[in-house]
Amino acid sequence: MAMAVVKPRIRGFICTTAHPAGCEANVNTQIQVARAARTAPAVQAAPADQAGRQNGGGPLRVLVIGASTGYGLAARIAAGAMYGAGTVGVFFEREASGTKSGTPGFYNTAAFQRYATENGLISANVNGDAYSHEIKRKTVELVESRLGEVDVVIYSLASPKRTDPDTGEIYQSVLSPIGETYVGKTIDLNREVISEVSVEPASDEGIRGTVGVMGGDDLNRWIEALLEAGLLADGARVVPFSYIGPSLTWPIYRSGTIGRAKEDLEQTTKTINGRLQSTVGGRALVSVNKAVITQASAAIPVVPLYISLLYRIMRERGLHEDPIHQMVRLFDDHIGPGGTPSVDGEDRIRLDDLELGASVQREIDEVWPTITTDNFRALTDYDTYKRGFRQLFGFEVDGMAYDEPVEMEAVI
Ligand code: NAD
Repeated sequence: MAMAVVKPRIRGFICTTAHPAGCEANVNTQIQVARAARTAPAVQAAPADQAGRQNGGGPLRVLVIGASTGYGLAARIAAGAMYGAGTVGVFFEREASGTKSGTPGFYNTAAFQRYATENGLISANVNGDAYSHEIKRKTVELVESRLGEVDVVIYSLASPKRTDPDTGEIYQSVLSPIGETYVGKTIDLNREVISEVSVEPASDEGIRGTVGVMGGDDLNRWIEALLEAGLLADGARVVPFSYIGPSLTWPIYRSGTIGRAKEDLEQTTKTINGRLQSTVGGRALVSVNKAVITQASAAIPVVPLYISLLYRIMRERGLHEDPIHQMVRLFDDHIGPGGTPSVDGEDRIRLDDLELGASVQREIDEVWPTITTDNFRALTDYDTYKRGFRQLFGFEVDGMAYDEPVEMEAVI
């Protein structure tokens, strides 16, 4: 037992504390959204594998790499709460130490684990560096012992660095334009003023580092490890996430270093697709998701202001979606039991269709140039963004007694 009153400690796009009960409440809200969307029976008839193991019409089996926050957490919740899926989650999180709080992803996972246990769902976790050989090995063992095989692999890692498991080289990602300096509007999250950012173009080293972290190499290694161990079920689906966004963020996102990494991930996914077709009759497809408030997106210049405006416009049009709504759609419309993915010309699932709708983007283009420090709260949903960011860490969640001590330790 380690009880403490925990308050947010925020600096820009980083918060160094997390509220365990607030994180649990967030997970429970997502579970409710997914349960309400449940249309299919909670089980899937899956064929026996070659080793004769069979889940006997049992639940969907899902491996989520990057399962503790953002899109990966939402995917795990959607699969568990909609289909009763068995899940193995891989993530890199810090547990509490005495009254020093753990990371939100640790508390989120503890909350999901509680739900899974109470509802008889298989759920197992691997906490460590997903890029390492050791964590891949541990995960392979756990998938084999707890799930037998996997029907769906969700790849949702977001990280600033990666150590190459063979060479020990440390790749560092940068969020920079390529070719020329980018000058654009952004919000200074500390001072809450609109300012102009100027970001120097990346060096070749910066481009290479970003592709090394967020490109396709690690995904490829995961799929090879799973294939080698014979753990991908017949017809298995592998889904990594990408982002395209509107032209106003292209210089810093899609045409920048991170976009270069996403192109590499998309290219690798095509190669993996061929490999899966010829081995297990499976499919690998990128899902292009919409912009949402997560720890990863808060770190990208321009994006928090863009999301603040996007949320206001999509909410007014009744189009608002959080990660859980996107992941419900991913499973329900595309990759859930019996689903057939609908894809664009590049074989990608487009969950960003509503964000990139012509009328939403027309309003973005009209309003964006007029945003200033004096009017940004009126023109955008910045207060919702700010609250949403704090909620990622379990703060400003309705119904929480933040002045009272809370148990800081949690079990996953
Ligand atoms: P996030 O920061 O909320 O989640 C990242 C996850 O990766 C966490 O579970 C974390 O524990 C895990 N992780 C990071 N480094 C790890 C490591 N070394 N080993 C094991 N686990 C590790 O991020 P997110 O915004 O949900 O992004 C997930 C994916 O979705 C990314 O590919 C991102 O580009 C994509 N995406 C995000 C957005 C957005 O607006 N946030 C939009 C479209 C696509």
